Amino acid sequence: INSFFQPVQQLVQLYTQYQQGKAAIGKIRGLLATSSSVVESPTASVLPPVRGEIVFDDVTFGYLPDRPVLEGVTLRIEPGETVACVGPTGAGKSTLAKLVTRFYDPSSGRILIDGHDLRDVTLSSLRKQIGVVPQEPFLFAGTLRDNIAFARPEATDEEVWAAVDAVGLRDLVERSPEGLDTPLHERGQSVSSGERQLLALARAFLAEPRVVVLDEATSSLDLRSELRVEAALDALLEGRTAILVAHRLSTAMRADRIIVVDDHRIIETGSHDELIAAGGRYADMFATWAAHS
Ligand code: ATP
Repeated sequence: INSFFQPVQQLVQLYTQYQQGKAAIGKIRGLLATSSSVVESPTASVLPPVRGEIVFDDVTFGYLPDRPVLEGVTLRIEPGETVACVGPTGAGKSTLAKLVTRFYDPSSGRILIDGHDLRDVTLSSLRKQIGVVPQEPFLFAGTLRDNIAFARPEATDEEVWAAVDAVGLRDLVERSPEGLDTPLHERGQSVSSGERQLLALARAFLAEPRVVVLDEATSSLDLRSELRVEAALDALLEGRTAILVAHRLSTAMRADRIIVVDDHRIIETGSHDELIAAGGRYADMFATWAAHS
């Protein structure tokens, strides 16, 4: 019986591998397609240190030519200001954030950082001054230090510890057998989703960017972890320009300004109190949220 089933099993295995391989190739293709969507101009210059003013000047963008995701978006973010972006799923919040880091170029209009069109500066000098905290931060099989100092491998111990303290992770490092030199895999699955987020915030903190673009994680945290992440976020955003894609209104409320994105546009903008008083979409979202929490 075995000799009959073995080849069948092998065939099934091979087929599974083939399917997985196909999926992986698809993903790589997707990545290549994204990274090739922006081209550095041969005349691009190095972006000098910025104060952190971000301007969207009548920006229209779509992933497909005839399907705009954002249309005529105009927005000025002052240096040091925190702007939270809220709106329904698929409204274009993450897209707006990706445009700031020049993952894509607008199909029309301009995005400026301290008056420089993003297309006129080198990608490396732009990304040095913009810290990105993705929705699903990646950790890799290095030490805690490697993971935190990812963007600045030359950082001193003092600098790494300052970042660790800023986000409240000292206890995690001190509980690890070799401190900062503990390989992450030794902690195995013991890095919780809250700790993962804090590590990502420490990584961004250490890079000292003038501008932070953060796509908030959607995974729900227990109350204690949520409070720790909020405190770490305050430490990271202090004195920096920030654009937050906020999935929780509790995060949005803490921003200096909230923009509501829907129907390809910014439909409302103001502080939490202003938008509540205006009684529009944000006020509706807030009332629904408050009733459920
Ligand atoms: P969510 O709250 O669910 O994260 P969002 O407001 O951040 O949503 P985006 O991720 O910006 O929305 O997506 C806006 C629109 O663009 C959606 O219709 C989405 O399907 C589409 N979209 C996003 N990324 C791509 C892509 N790489 N290629 C094609 N279409 C995309």
